[in-house]
Amino acid sequence: MPSFDATIVAIATPPGEGGVGIVRLSGGDALSIARALFTPAKPGAELLSHRLVHGTIREPATRAVLDDCLVCYMAGPRTYTGEDVVELHCHGSPVLLQHVVGCCLQCGARAAERGEFTLRAFLNGRLDLAQAEAVINLVRARTATAVQVAAQGLTGALARRLEPVTQTITGVLAYLEATIDFVEEGLPEQAAPRLAAELDGTSQELTALLRRATHGAILRDGVRVVLAGRPNVGKSSLLNALLRRDRAIVTPVPGTTRDTLEEPADIHGLPMYLIDTAGITDTGDLVERIGVERARAAVETAALVVLIVEAGSAVSRDDVQAASAIRTVAQRAPMLLVMNKADLAPAARGEAFDLLFSADWRPREVIRCSALTGQGLAELEDALARMALGNEALDAEETLVETARQVQALREAEAALGKALEGLRTERIVELVCIDLRTALESLGSVTGMNVSEAVLDRIFSDFCIGK
Ligand code: GDP
Repeated sequence: MPSFDATIVAIATPPGEGGVGIVRLSGGDALSIARALFTPAKPGAELLSHRLVHGTIREPATRAVLDDCLVCYMAGPRTYTGEDVVELHCHGSPVLLQHVVGCCLQCGARAAERGEFTLRAFLNGRLDLAQAEAVINLVRARTATAVQVAAQGLTGALARRLEPVTQTITGVLAYLEATIDFVEEGLPEQAAPRLAAELDGTSQELTALLRRATHGAILRDGVRVVLAGRPNVGKSSLLNALLRRDRAIVTPVPGTTRDTLEEPADIHGLPMYLIDTAGITDTGDLVERIGVERARAAVETAALVVLIVEAGSAVSRDDVQAASAIRTVAQRAPMLLVMNKADLAPAARGEAFDLLFSADWRPREVIRCSALTGQGLAELEDALARMALGNEALDAEETLVETARQVQALREAEAALGKALEGLRTERIVELVCIDLRTALESLGSVTGMNVSEAVLDRIFSDFCIGK
């Protein structure tokens, strides 16, 4: 873990050209470093806290003007990190910004490590750990719904929801600990059922939070959806239709899609990665064979498989081959059957696609659509979202658990509470019930970052970008 005595500096805006680029400093020397670089436009103007001041940035050694800029000094502790912070709002030139960072380093700042601003915010009590995790989720959010859920996390929604749970457990624990000292033959009559009822309520609250955690993970990590089927069935066309733009090359020649394409799409607010495979077919063509191998790897990790066939046409040997190849690789991913090219066969003709399935590999849904005309595509999107969410409607306000770490901590708390409840019901020794309750409290505490190890912090913050 880095030392926190130093004043750190980093570019806070994304790489590349932009209207404005921000260099951010945090730490005890932030103001003096800013003063060494900055000359206010109005002679004698002071850098007052939480005010923007216009002026120029100059090289500290040569006093050569580098940029015309706005500077915002924010005195701690009312800042993001809790320390003194200075933001230098320059023009968005990557070369200029690097140069300004270099000048700050010359004046005694240290280059910030990944996530170090947010780590300092956490260590200074400005954010709890779940909020810090929400920062990275917000920065990485790919759909409006993912933004909504992460922004909610940023306000400390999870900690607020867990607070009454923690209070109830603490209350029960305090009662039991007081009882141990005075009662020799266990708890007074009526006490155990009352305490058990209280704990049961908190346990249900945790279960409800965990039930929504899969939706949190989907919003955070996205869903990998593989489009599979024999060559020329319309995989690339469907991909383009779902992306609403031309990404994949579409031609009437079978085997045109030579490589695996993976494209991010926003389907009903869910970030999905649509994977167009080269088609899992045996082929002599080397380039195509490499594509086929990648297709296999993509299918293996997919959460959903869209198996595409041609509406109105009989099942061909290629269809059977493609389906069985996918089935062997896709393992347990739920499958959706798409009858594409519905424009060519408007009415269902009692098509029999049963040959493609096996007893334990059948489509969860069947959609008839046309990548060409757009018919049925809305239904396809509905079905994809439904399957991704496990047929449960997404409730963004109730989706408070987003990271695997939070899930693990809540599961541990839930398990410990379950043991405590069992203990109360079976009149187990009170001390043992207390141990379980303390374990539950510890796990809940780790969600907001009380008693977490340095290794856990390192893991969380190394996932951040520099400057955040
Ligand atoms: P892929 O090999 O499975 O990726 O198939 P493509 O997307 O390259 O499509 C193969 C051919 O089928 C192209 O000529 C497409 O224009 C055509 N095609 C794709 N979808 C449809 C559809 O819904 N209706 C019709 N009529 N043609 C389609």
